[in-house]
Amino acid sequence: MTNKKVIIIGSGPAGITASIYLKRSGLEPYLIESNMPGGKLSFTYKIDNYPGFNSINGSDLAFKMMDQLAKNQIDIHYETVINVSKKNDKIIVKTSMDSYKVDAVIIASGMTEKKLNIKSEDKFLAKGISFCAICDGGFYKNQPMAIIGGGNSALEEALYLKELANPLYIIHRRNEFRGDKLILDQVKGSDKIKIMTPYIPIEFKGEEVLESLVLENVDNKEQVEIKVKGVFEYVGSVPNTAFVSDKKILNEQGFIEVNEKMMSKIPGIFAAGDVIKKDLRQVVTATNDGAIAAISVKNFLK
Ligand code: NAP
Repeated sequence: MTNKKVIIIGSGPAGITASIYLKRSGLEPYLIESNMPGGKLSFTYKIDNYPGFNSINGSDLAFKMMDQLAKNQIDIHYETVINVSKKNDKIIVKTSMDSYKVDAVIIASGMTEKKLNIKSEDKFLAKGISFCAICDGGFYKNQPMAIIGGGNSALEEALYLKELANPLYIIHRRNEFRGDKLILDQVKGSDKIKIMTPYIPIEFKGEEVLESLVLENVDNKEQVEIKVKGVFEYVGSVPNTAFVSDKKILNEQGFIEVNEKMMSKIPGIFAAGDVIKKDLRQVVTATNDGAIAAISVKNFLK
């Protein structure tokens, strides 16, 4: 068991901001990441609504944040968190590498993409089905591709994929889109994108790799089969909170409920970013949460 003052779980915008604020207030944050630093930001095509940048690639913004981590002499420790619990007055964070006894933890572990759970989806994962257009779009260059979903993620990644795909379908189960009007207008204005609504995917088909996708019209139940080499699923995400031992800090969907200080129902367990219950999930709200969580931790430890 290793003693630490504060552990931060997750190196997305919330975790990075919390680390920087803690370090600058004189505390040594121990920042843990199990995956790619930068969180979902690293896989986002473009950010057009983060103040200070008219438009910036998600990965470029993530690099700038990581650069700031380095300038503040904060290391990222690559470990997978297995359990977070509170025993007596201490928080115990168990990871793939060690167990840590800490005074406070900030959970900024973000979310993981949901699957569609339809026929043959597992068979074609990484053989045509992906959750990251920026990572995998290039594999299917000049070939037919499809994006599933009608939220901001689907629409934004469509603007990236339209340059690679021939053609690009956006398949959405309703005629109205959940994503912002500004992005939707750009999608609708592109002659490279074919919008198909209201359709739901019901089966993936192919031999070794993905070759087509069967869709069903929600209104009249008619089925169509479209040729696609790459399908990118953007049908929402689930919070990464399976490692939280005491489920009383979670809501029914698994998000962590926090007060205005970003503290959960368990004193010493704080949370920030996409993993908390909130209405607006943006880079700017994640950094906001991270800053508040850090200052609250500082005050809590006093
Ligand atoms: P989301 O907003 O939850 O959208 C998921 C989409 O997938 C919805 O259109 C939903 O349809 C559809 N869907 C869900 N389950 C489905 C199923 N089984 N079959 C077919 N379609 C299904 O998720 P997101 O786009 O990943 O965004 C998550 C959060 O991040 C949002 O708050 C979003 O605003 C934010 N975000 C912001 C930006 C930005 O502002 N720059 C960029 C990306 C994400 P229905 O609409 O019918 O429910």
